[in-house]
Amino acid sequence: MEIKQAQALLRKLLKEIQHPRLAAFIALSEEVGEVADAVMKYEVYEEHQQLDHLQGELADVLICLLELANVYDIDLEAALQKKLEGLPARITQWTQQLQGLLDKKRKQWD
Ligand SMILES: [Mg+2]
Repeated sequence: MEIKQAQALLRKLLKEIQHPRLAAFIALSEEVGEVADAVMKYEVYEEHQQLDHLQGELADVLICLLELANVYDIDLEAALQKKLEGLPARITQWTQQLQGLLDKKRKQWD
């Protein structure tokens, strides 16, 4: 499913119960917190069954993100495409600035 399709489907499904704009943002924040909780349980408490839970929470974040785009009437697919087009130049800059540090941190943390 493409982003535009998912956004349209969600707009249709939530037609009668879409959050007000501020609540849509709060719902997204709430779901990001649930992702943090699932990652904490997986990484720190070694509850490896949490990986399935993380999958569901990531999907919740995406749903809330699509809803937030809908309440602000933003074409998220177009916005993403625009960002992706500018990404290679930014990656070149990030690579020059951060590659050594990130390599070091991956060796320490992964
Ligand atoms: Mg959730």
